[in-house]
Amino acid sequence: MQQNLIDKFNNFDENYKYILDKINESAIKSGRKFDDITLLAATKTVESEVICHAFNQGLNYMGENRVQEFLSKENDLPEKMHKQFIGTLQTNKVKQIVGKVEMIQSVDSVKLAREISRQSIMRGISTDILIEINIGNEITKSGIDFDDFNSFLEEISKIEAINVRGLMTLGPVGAEKSKKIEIFEKMNKLFVDNKAKKVDNISMDYLSMGMSDDFDIAIEHGSNMVRVGSALFGQRIYK
Ligand SMILES: *Cc1c(COP(=O)(O)O)cnc(C)c1O
Repeated sequence: MQQNLIDKFNNFDENYKYILDKINESAIKSGRKFDDITLLAATKTVESEVICHAFNQGLNYMGENRVQEFLSKENDLPEKMHKQFIGTLQTNKVKQIVGKVEMIQSVDSVKLAREISRQSIMRGISTDILIEINIGNEITKSGIDFDDFNSFLEEISKIEAINVRGLMTLGPVGAEKSKKIEIFEKMNKLFVDNKAKKVDNISMDYLSMGMSDDFDIAIEHGSNMVRVGSALFGQRIYK
């Protein structure tokens, strides 16, 4: 095997162990168990060989950002791995991934939800989604406005063949810890309040927030799914 890949595997193994320990610690701090938290590997720019290695070490959730990149890796990925979509999704690309990913985390418009629905109906399936919320993220602007959540949820609950499974946010990249905590708490409150509501087609199973530089803080403030890229695989040169 190429030395380059061996180095990547070793690097991953070290990072993975460290991250699992931190997840365990943060879960306990927030009164939960390690198993209550899902670690999803954000695998953009990561080669299939490395993703397969990660899977063999026990990391069984992955998320891709780009449709093309996902499709180019798809055949080389473990069949049993949970594959999700976490990036900005253009409506015209929905047909390429519906049925191939188990969940689309980044739904931030009714138009996008309708297209996921339409493509799911054509395939005789239903697709799990998360609603992406823009909270304190000035840079990407992806996600619906926090204040529009209730009306968005009402619209989306009427759409067939999609199941809302929770909420996702990118959060404020590079913000101070106190600001992050404030935002994570606000997301957690939205999650918990809506979990109590019991609306048709809506369940609040996943609160997907926290990335490499703040997954521990996110877990301590309610997250039960963290999307970690660079802290597992090393810094990306681009994206
Ligand atoms: C890249 C990415 C992540 C992970 O980012 P890191 O800082 O590398 O951990 C998480 N979520 C989304 C949507 C991403 O695009």
